[in-house]
Amino acid sequence: MGTRVLIRVSGIIFGLFALAHAVRAIFRWEITFAGRAMPIWASVLVAVIAAYLAYESFRTREVRYICTGECGGMSPKPGMCQAEKCAKKGMPLEEVSA
Ligand SMILES: [Zn+2]
Repeated sequence: MGTRVLIRVSGIIFGLFALAHAVRAIFRWEITFAGRAMPIWASVLVAVIAAYLAYESFRTREVRYICTGECGGMSPKPGMCQAEKCAKKGMPLEEVSA
């Protein structure tokens, strides 16, 4: 599994977690945690934090740098094309986000 997939999966989990706690707070369902009733404000807090984490997970984009020449070179870092036979050797790689 790639990093991108893992970030998406964690985003979905955080999203569901946020949704569950938001629904719980709206309908005021009682939750007992370690023998104590969990207050509504705690669910609101958890929902806000989880929603933020979900948002960040989906906002994060993987950035790559590609050569627009015939070499088809790709790099995770910005730089220049270093392929000997490429017409764009020494030219900066172009930023693309997936
Ligand atoms: Zn190139």
